Amino acid sequence: VPEVERAQDDRAAEAKGVWVYAEVRAGQMPEVVAELLGQGRRLAEQLDVELGAVVLGHGLDGAAGELFAMGADVVYAADDPRLADFNDDIYCQVLARLIAEYKPEVLLAGATSIGRSMIPRVATAAATGLTADCTGLAIDPEKRLLLQTRPAFGGNIMATIVCPSARPQMATVRPRVMKRGELRQGAQGRLVTVSLSDEEKSLTKVLEVVQSLEENVNLTGADVVITGGRGVGGPEGFQLVGQLAEALGGVVGATRGAVDSEWIGHAHQVGQTGRTVAPKLYVALGVSGAVQHLVGMQGSDTIVAVNKDPNAPIFDVAHYGIVGDLFKVAPAMLSRLKQL
Ligand code: FAD
Repeated sequence: VPEVERAQDDRAAEAKGVWVYAEVRAGQMPEVVAELLGQGRRLAEQLDVELGAVVLGHGLDGAAGELFAMGADVVYAADDPRLADFNDDIYCQVLARLIAEYKPEVLLAGATSIGRSMIPRVATAAATGLTADCTGLAIDPEKRLLLQTRPAFGGNIMATIVCPSARPQMATVRPRVMKRGELRQGAQGRLVTVSLSDEEKSLTKVLEVVQSLEENVNLTGADVVITGGRGVGGPEGFQLVGQLAEALGGVVGATRGAVDSEWIGHAHQVGQTGRTVAPKLYVALGVSGAVQHLVGMQGSDTIVAVNKDPNAPIFDVAHYGIVGDLFKVAPAMLSRLKQL
């Protein structure tokens, strides 16, 4: 066995525990943390190991309790003024050091702007692999391998990726893909307080945090999403989409076709290169249903599609399909809603 392979096998044998990186944004943990802990618990049970959560930041009072309630058995918390604002530099140093010290077998993180920026660097520092944007995670119990499934080649195939010997096995998952677990109010666990060393410091400094207006489109957290595609015909078509969204208390989504035509901003885009949503109700107006769109919305509880082409692929995933002109169907929906 070549030296490198042997060293990696040793790493695999030593590694223990499933970890979730619990990001904190403006003092809050996004929903994806609960979703990852829900999935992490299922994986940890299959591997018969503890579920750990790592939280970095400053002023983290109550974070450990929240993480225990969301399913963590052990929380590694580093609370330090140097971690007050997210910064790739120092966050990566600390997380990579914890990995080297505690050797988790699996590490999951959200495919959020923070996760996407930081986790590839952590994987490089830990000399391991990373599968980004997974849509499925499972365990091969015999080999103790994390089976990481994600769309590949523009969504035309689903690839299952494994990291045979390096550890941890690392994956990022988009918000709303995994199901969160039951909240265990008042649950207790083991808290490991992590101190920063003098060497752990950042070369960059955050001067100001500016919230983008686009970020205010809360697509991923919405219970109702009304999406317009190229079928709405132009920017004015989105007024009708907006009216229906308002009547149903929902948020406006869009296809890449509509976004690329500059009818609406990218923050509204649903799909492979946009947001993944799983609302209770998803209404698709004039959306053909390309595979890159479907991967971002097919987990919705109820899908309603309106399209004038009876063969549009969106009807393959729709629970209710209306073959017709959206400019007739959507106003009819609106007037019916006003009567309720
Ligand atoms: P079209 O495919 O043009 O469909 C318009 C539909 O509207 C048609 O089915 C038509 O019958 C219907 N229609 C027209 N007029 C009416 C009317 N009056 N009433 C009712 N129906 C009407 N796409 C995404 O959405 N999200 C992504 O994240 C994404 N990522 C991509 C990544 C890659 C790498 C690639 C290659 C593509 C990606 N795409 C993505 C693009 C995707 O392949 C499709 O091109 C896009 O989803 C099509 O958008 P659309 O359904 O609005 O337009």
